[in-house]
Amino acid sequence: MMPVTFAQETPSVSFETLAAVAEQVRGTTKKLEKMALLAGYFATLGDNDLALAARYIAGQVFPRHDVRVLQVGGAAIVQTLVTLSGLTREEIAPLSVRLGELGEVARAILPGHLPETSVLTLAAVEMALESLAVTPGTKAKTNLLTDLIRRATLMEATYLVKLVSGDLRIGLKQGLVEDALARGFHRPLAAVSHAAMLLGDLGEVAVLARAGTLDRAALRLFHPLGAMLATPAATPEEALANLPEGWALVEDKFDGIRAQVHRDGDRLAIYSRTLDDITHRFPELHAPLRALPGPFVLDGEIIGEREGRVLPFTQFQQRLGRKTVTDEIVRDIPAVLVAFDLLYQGGDLLFARPLTERRTLLAALLQQDISLLNEGEGKGGAAFLAGKGTGERGNPVRLSRAQHVTAPDEIETLFVAARARGNEGLMVKLPHSAYTPGRRGAEWRKVKRALASLDVVVTAVEWGHGKRRHVLSDYTFAVRASASDPALLNIGKAYSGLTDAEIAELTQWFLAHTRQDFGRVRTVDPAIVLEVTFDAVQESKRHKSGYALRFPRILRVRDDKPLDEIDTLASVRALTAR
Ligand code: AMP
Repeated sequence: MMPVTFAQETPSVSFETLAAVAEQVRGTTKKLEKMALLAGYFATLGDNDLALAARYIAGQVFPRHDVRVLQVGGAAIVQTLVTLSGLTREEIAPLSVRLGELGEVARAILPGHLPETSVLTLAAVEMALESLAVTPGTKAKTNLLTDLIRRATLMEATYLVKLVSGDLRIGLKQGLVEDALARGFHRPLAAVSHAAMLLGDLGEVAVLARAGTLDRAALRLFHPLGAMLATPAATPEEALANLPEGWALVEDKFDGIRAQVHRDGDRLAIYSRTLDDITHRFPELHAPLRALPGPFVLDGEIIGEREGRVLPFTQFQQRLGRKTVTDEIVRDIPAVLVAFDLLYQGGDLLFARPLTERRTLLAALLQQDISLLNEGEGKGGAAFLAGKGTGERGNPVRLSRAQHVTAPDEIETLFVAARARGNEGLMVKLPHSAYTPGRRGAEWRKVKRALASLDVVVTAVEWGHGKRRHVLSDYTFAVRASASDPALLNIGKAYSGLTDAEIAELTQWFLAHTRQDFGRVRTVDPAIVLEVTFDAVQESKRHKSGYALRFPRILRVRDDKPLDEIDTLASVRALTAR
């Protein structure tokens, strides 16, 4: 499809109106009212402004498919506020804790420092944000941001800071904006959402919705789509609950990074789950992917694999962390793409086709053997990963193997086998399911098991963010040095797992047992024992213990456990070996 050309000659309107509408939307919790406000506002705008407003009101600076990012951090925003208000960083810090976000800080400290009348148009804001994205360096970005905010009214400054921070916090995400477009322009919501998914740009969708041409939206190669996500299943029974066909396809869950490959003619691109272009990071995948007949879009996971063995994610991560991908890195930590879905091929959008059919097409594209689909237990290692069909051995682009499963005990067996192969767990997929980009549904379920849990003690606490800004909700925790040495060594930080009531109660306790108050962070008496779980234990210089937990979550408060019975460094070390 050709890009939409905008038929607007009317001059761009003031950014202040958008800020005022956002403020009204923020003022009501009623969904219908929010949407009526938006629909009324959208109706007043020319095409260019409509596209910008639809994106900005959803908190998106650029279209989702766009690889540009602002890269303006909190430090740059705070410096801007310092320059414009004349306050110091130290004076601003407690305000930011109290108000929870910098947009509200701007509103509180900038009165009297900004013009009364608006001169900023939506188009002027767009230009400024584009320059911010392409300007390198914090200092230069800060100067540009300061110049922009200096020209804004107080209301505009408030919302510009929110937008630059990445969230307007007005209770309006992409879904509601889609809904508002559907209602406002009298189009079916499904058509709006479908166009938004294909185009990855709410702005363009808004213009098509108004014109009644949503059916012109088509998938565009080299515009990455959101990845389909999975719902966690805690047990094998849960993983196989509600199977419409009575069986599921089960694959290993590979512990690497999600990759969406677009290929057409000479062009090849690999996108990450965050829709960033990561093509250059995996040079060894280029030739095998170029060898496949395009055009196509496929979905998979890139993992590290050496001599037929899957590398632990922690090792693969060393490669991801490097700026330049040297020959040495490619040799030491070779990448493999395990493909598990085909979204588009030769002009056909395949989302709505059943998974089994998409997999058959994928196998044909890769010229790899789909007969593996219904085979029994694999022997492990590379053979399982690579399958046994023609052409895949030694090929870094492979079809993921899937099995036909009906009973929970099969899940148990496969899970153990997947772990033994070095994979993270299992993915359970409904055989007739469609591909739903960017959505987490029950069609895909993931079975991961936490390695173990550790009993730790809270040593420091931090004020939360957003809804949790008035409570101490982020906890740094430690283990004991050894059974005989009571020294406490920090090992991680967690902020999820407890109920609001538990957090409120703990907040009171921590306030009464603070040792040192550093503003955002307080050290506290080490007495609250938590049981935490995590995905992995890694060696790390970040904490005193020399280890860090990957994705720690709090399971419960262990009121029953005294401080001298918490886990020791030795038990942490034992877990790294697993
Ligand atoms: P999680 O990151 O825990 O939410 O799990 C979902 C992620 O698992 C996906 O985004 C993929 O990156 C990854 N994954 C690994 N293996 C598979 C597979 N066989 N099918 C689908 N996703 C997979």
